[in-house]
Amino acid sequence: MRHSVYIAFGSNVGDRLHYLRESLENIKSFVKDVSTSVVIETEAILPENAPEAWDKPYLNMVAHGDTDLEPEALLNRLQAIEQALGREREHPFWGPRTIDLDILLYDDLRVSTERLTLPHIGLKDREFLWHLLGSIRSDLKDPFTSQTFASKAWGCQQGSGVPAKRSFVLYPQLMGIVNLTPDSFSDGGLWLDHERGVWHCCQLVKDGASVVDLGAQSTRPGASVLREEAEWKRLETFLGCLQSFPVPISLDTYYPNVVKKALERYPIAWINDVTGRLDGDILREAAQAGCKICVMHSLSVPPVHNEVVEDLWQTLEVWGRQQLDRLTHLGFAEENIVLDPGIGFGKTSFQIGILLRTIERMHFGKCSVLVGHSRKSFLNNLEPKPAVERDKETLAISQYLNHKVEYLRVHNVRDHQRVLSAQHWIENAY
Ligand code: ATP
Ligand code: CA
Ligand code: CA
Repeated sequence: MRHSVYIAFGSNVGDRLHYLRESLENIKSFVKDVSTSVVIETEAILPENAPEAWDKPYLNMVAHGDTDLEPEALLNRLQAIEQALGREREHPFWGPRTIDLDILLYDDLRVSTERLTLPHIGLKDREFLWHLLGSIRSDLKDPFTSQTFASKAWGCQQGSGVPAKRSFVLYPQLMGIVNLTPDSFSDGGLWLDHERGVWHCCQLVKDGASVVDLGAQSTRPGASVLREEAEWKRLETFLGCLQSFPVPISLDTYYPNVVKKALERYPIAWINDVTGRLDGDILREAAQAGCKICVMHSLSVPPVHNEVVEDLWQTLEVWGRQQLDRLTHLGFAEENIVLDPGIGFGKTSFQIGILLRTIERMHFGKCSVLVGHSRKSFLNNLEPKPAVERDKETLAISQYLNHKVEYLRVHNVRDHQRVLSAQHWIENAY
C-alpha cells in the first residue's frame, strides 16, 4: 500500500547543502517518485537566552513522495539517516544540527504518541512550511483547518510572511572557481593574496558551491606555463589555510608531483586534470585516497589558436570511453569519474553551440558530466564583452543545462543559485 508523505529537511551546520542532498538520495531508497521544493535559508528559531553559537541560519526544504513504510518505520529510517550524517542522539532540543528530518504529513493520518505527532506540530505556525508545501502541491490541505497550504500562504504578506533570506537548489552542483593566478582571463590576480583567497573560498561556500576548484596555473589561450615548483609554492601556503574547510577541495593541476604532495598533506577530495593525461601511478594513489577525478577533453593546454577538432562527437565519444576505461582500471569507481567536454579547448564557437545542445551524449556509464562554460570567449559570438561581463550569457546557458548535467564550473556561484532556484520554484509546482 502506497502512502503519500511530506518530509521537512533542515540543516544549520557544516556543508548544509551536502547534508540535504545526501538525505534526499538516501530517502529515495524507501520513498518513491520524490519531488522537492527549492531550498530556502531562514534564521534559526531559538528560545530566549539561547547561546549565541546556536544562532546559525538554516537551510530548509520539503519533499513529497510515496512510501510502503508504516509511520513508525518511516521515522526509524529518517532517524537512522540523521545519525549516519552525524547528528548527535542527545542533542539539545533547539541546538544546531547537521540534519533534521521531520514527517510533516502521512496521508491524512492523525497520530499522537510519545514518538510521533502527525501532522507535525510545526505546521500550525511555521509559515515557511506553508509556502514550501503550497509551492509544490497547490491542492494540499492542512488537516487542522482543512484549508490548503497554498491559501494559507496566499494571505502572507510579501516580505513579512516569506522569511527566505536566500534560495538554493541541490542540483546541478556548482564547482566554484578559485584562480590563484596573476593572469587568469576573468579574475586573474584577484585572489593571489592568501587572506583574500581564503575569504573568497568561504564566500563561494556561503553562496552555495558544493566544491571549490583551486588552480595556480592559468589555462587561458596564450598563458605562459608555470613550472611545477612554482605552482606548488603558490598552492601550498594556500592549502595550509584550508585545513578544515567545509566543502570538498578540488585541485586543478596536471603535475603528478603536485598531486602527490597535496594528497600527502592536505584534504584534497577532487583532482581536476585539464589535460586528461595525468600519470597512472599518481592517479592510482588518488583513487586509493577516495578522490573524485575530473578529466577534461582538450587538444592542447593552453589551447592553440586554429587547432580544433575535425568532427565533434566522434572525437568526444572515443575520448570519453577511453577515459572511462582507463580510470576504472586505475581504481576509480564510475561514480567518482567526472567528464568535462572542455569548452574552449579545441572547439570553435559554432561547435561549442552544438556540443551544449547535445550534451546528453557526454554521459558514459555512471560517470557525471561537468560543463565549464562560465565567461568563456565563445560568448563573444553573441556580443563582444570583457570576461567579467559575460555572466548573463553564462547564466542563460546554465539554465539550459539544468537537469542535463551534474556539475557546472562557474565563477559567479551566488547568481547561479538565484537563477536556478527561481527556475526550480516556478517550474516545480503541481
Ligand atoms: P520540532 O519537532 O519542533 O521541529 P526538532 O525537530 O528539533 O523539533 P527533534 O529533537 O529532532 O526535534 O525530535 C524530537 C522528537 O520528536 C523525536 O525523537 C521524534 O520521536 C519526535 N517526533 C514527533 N513527531 C514527529 C514527526 N512528525 N516527525 C519527526 N519526529 C517527530
Ligand atoms: Ca524539526
Ligand atoms: Ca526532528
